[in-house]
Amino acid sequence: MSAAGGNPLSTRLPGSMENGQLMTLGVMGGGQLGRMFVHAAQAMGYFTAVLDPDPASPAGLVSHHHIQTDYLDEQGLAQMLQRCAAITTEFENVPAGALYTLGSHRFVAPAANAVAIAQDRALEKTHFASCGVACAPYALIETAAQLAAVADDLLPGILKTTRMGYDGKGQMRVANRAELTNAWDALANVPCVLEKMLPLAMECSVIVARGATGEIVNFPIQHNLHRDGILAVTQVFDGVVPQALADQAVTAARAIAQGLGYVGVLCVEFFILQDGSLVVNEIAPRPHNSGHYTLNACDQSQFDLQVRTLAGLPLTQPRQHSAAIMLNLLGDIWVNQKTPDWAGVLALPGTHLHLYGKLSARKGRKMGHLNITAAAPEQARETALRCAALLGIAAF
Ligand code: ATP
Ligand code: MG
Repeated sequence: MSAAGGNPLSTRLPGSMENGQLMTLGVMGGGQLGRMFVHAAQAMGYFTAVLDPDPASPAGLVSHHHIQTDYLDEQGLAQMLQRCAAITTEFENVPAGALYTLGSHRFVAPAANAVAIAQDRALEKTHFASCGVACAPYALIETAAQLAAVADDLLPGILKTTRMGYDGKGQMRVANRAELTNAWDALANVPCVLEKMLPLAMECSVIVARGATGEIVNFPIQHNLHRDGILAVTQVFDGVVPQALADQAVTAARAIAQGLGYVGVLCVEFFILQDGSLVVNEIAPRPHNSGHYTLNACDQSQFDLQVRTLAGLPLTQPRQHSAAIMLNLLGDIWVNQKTPDWAGVLALPGTHLHLYGKLSARKGRKMGHLNITAAAPEQARETALRCAALLGIAAF
C-alpha cells in the first residue's frame, strides 16, 4: 500500500474539501470499468478525474476531469496528482511505473507492486504458490534453452505471453513441440509461460475487496462461461458452483489478496477441473467483467467497494439479494450496425441494460452488458435465455 503525501483518510470522506475543491478521486484508464467507477464515486458526491489518451473514452466522457495523455506522460501524471486525493486503476496494463510515480505523492490503491505482480503471469504464479493455492502446471519460457527443456507432460498446452494479455489475446494453443516452437516464434519470442491444457469442468471467479487496515469482504462465487476467449455469461446464485468448491475458492481468493497486502478490489479467476479439483487461473487487480451483476443484484456493487477502499471508508460484507445472470453485449450483436432489440429485452421483468457509450461496434468489442435479476434462479435463467434469443446470443 502506498499511503502518502498529506492525505490522511479523514480528508477523503465524502463531501470533504481540499484546496477549496470537492474531494476528487482519480482513475488511471478510461474504459468501461473506469466509467462505472466514476458513476459510483459521483453517486457519493466525489469529483472524478480520468487519465486516458482517448478523447472518446467511456469514462472520460462522464468524468468531471479528463486528462488526455499517455499513462506515463509526466504532465498528465502531474495533473492527476494536482487534482486527486487518491487514485485507482481500471486497466491492468496501465504501466506499474505510472502507479509508482503517483504512489509516492498520493494514496494509490491497488498499489503499484500488487499491480506489477498481476501484470506478469510468472510473478503471479509464484505468488499463488506462496499462498498455498495450486495453479496449472507450467514452465517459464524466456530462452531457447528453456523452450527445449519443456517437459512432455506440459503438452498439449497453452502458450501465454507473461505480460499484456487479455481477452484471450497473446496466447496460443499448442498440441506438440513443433507447434510450441512455431507459437513462440509467432509471439516474437517474448517471455511466455507454457501452461498444461487442463480438462475444465467449469470456470468461476471470486471478487474480494480489502481495505487499508486489512479488513476483507467478498462477493459470492461467479460461474463464468467464455466464448472465443472472452467472457460471455456470468451466473450467480446459490448452488451454481458446488458449495465446498465455492468455499474453497473464497478462502483462496482472500488468501491471495491478504498475501499481497492488497488494497482495493481484486478478482481471482479459477478453473474447476473434471476431477473436481480447484486451480487458480489468474488475478485482475481491479473490478472485473464477471462482477458486473453486482450493480443490480447486490446491496453494494464492486465499484462501490472500489470507491470505499480508495476513500478509506468502512467495508461491510456485500449481500446478494437477487439471483443474477449477466450477458456480455459484444459488438457482434450489432449485426450490420443495426441497434439490437432493446425494447424487446426491456419488456421482460428484471432486465437492466448497461451500455458503455462506445461509438462504434466491432466484433468482440465489449459494448455493454445486460443484467437479469429475479427472485429465483429458474426465473433468471428463463428471462436470460429469452433475452439471449432476442439479441442473437447463443443459448447457454
Ligand atoms: P482475461 O484477461 O480476459 O480473463 P486472458 O487473456 O488473461 O483472459 P486466460 O484467463 O489466461 O486469458 O485464458 C483465457 C481462457 O482460456 C480461460 O478463461 C480458459 O477458458 C482458457 N484457458 C486458459 N488457460 C487454460 C488452461 N491451462 N487449461 C485449459 N483452458 C485454459
Ligand atoms: Mg482470464
